[in-house]
Amino acid sequence: MRIILLGPPGSGKGTQAQLLVQRYGIVQLSTGEMLRAAVAAGTPVGLKAKEIMAGGGLVPDEIVVGIISDRIDQPDARNGFILDGFPRTVPQAEALDELLKHKHMKLDAVIELRVNESALLSRVETRVAQMRERGEEVRVDDTPEVLTKRLANYRNQTEPLIHYYSERRKLSTIDGMMAIDEVTRAIHRLLLALGAVEPKSHARSVAKAGPAKKGKAAKKATKKPAKAAKKAAKSAKTAKKPAKKAVKGTKKTAKKATKKTVKKATRTTARKAVKKGAKKAAKKVTKKRAKR
Ligand code: AMP
Repeated sequence: MRIILLGPPGSGKGTQAQLLVQRYGIVQLSTGEMLRAAVAAGTPVGLKAKEIMAGGGLVPDEIVVGIISDRIDQPDARNGFILDGFPRTVPQAEALDELLKHKHMKLDAVIELRVNESALLSRVETRVAQMRERGEEVRVDDTPEVLTKRLANYRNQTEPLIHYYSERRKLSTIDGMMAIDEVTRAIHRLLLALGAVEPKSHARSVAKAGPAKKGKAAKKATKKPAKAAKKAAKSAKTAKKPAKKAVKGTKKTAKKATKKTVKKATRTTARKAVKKGAKKAAKKVTKKRAKR
């Protein structure tokens, strides 16, 4: 699976990328992280990038394209990757297209996390406060002034990518203002719909776990809820808990439906028996009368 996460700073790209990594066993390729590592290690790339990053500017395209090209070739990226923070400009997107073509690779999706810009500043402030609480080092570019510059960069240089990928029918947009797990679920649903991930075979075991054999009528009654269980499991497969809940609910429905049908069947049989009995009795009376 190869995907790009697009979104302004503070939109939750990094958080979602990490969750996707855990879930699908792919790697997160964050140019920001790689550049920060290069700065910390004092490599030639790091030395070039340091000042630019501290001021909220963009590191030259050839540097980031080079980093990504090398990283994609690493064995751990064979299973798939999430590009986070790259591409950031149309020329970078064009360079990526070329690069992937050369490597005979295809992108599965470009996912835009759409957020309300006014909420971003407070999100970043919260992130900084949490990092300070944990005693972690805070990024030098996580200040309100630099964030304003990074947001302006996003609007001018990165937002055109939305149009770029939408024209190529690669773009999907998700509401990034939802809770973290809701965004993750939405991404998973999207990847399922695109066929980029395999649906779990959970639904099958649910159908099997339907009510025990209770005759033809019961079986018939179980069929519908079993179908519903499959459907529920399918729509809830993004998260284990909701899926289980949905399945539990559907099992209950199946049981109820079975009880109902069994009751109905018994009532019908009783009615038939009464009718039969009545007919027999009537016949006896007629015979007696005839004898007389
Ligand atoms: P990020 O962690 O994605 O917010 O990136 C932090 C900083 O790294 C950015 O403000 C840029 O200075 C630099 N950077 C990261 N990715 C790129 C990129 N694709 N192109 C240019 N500069 C980048």
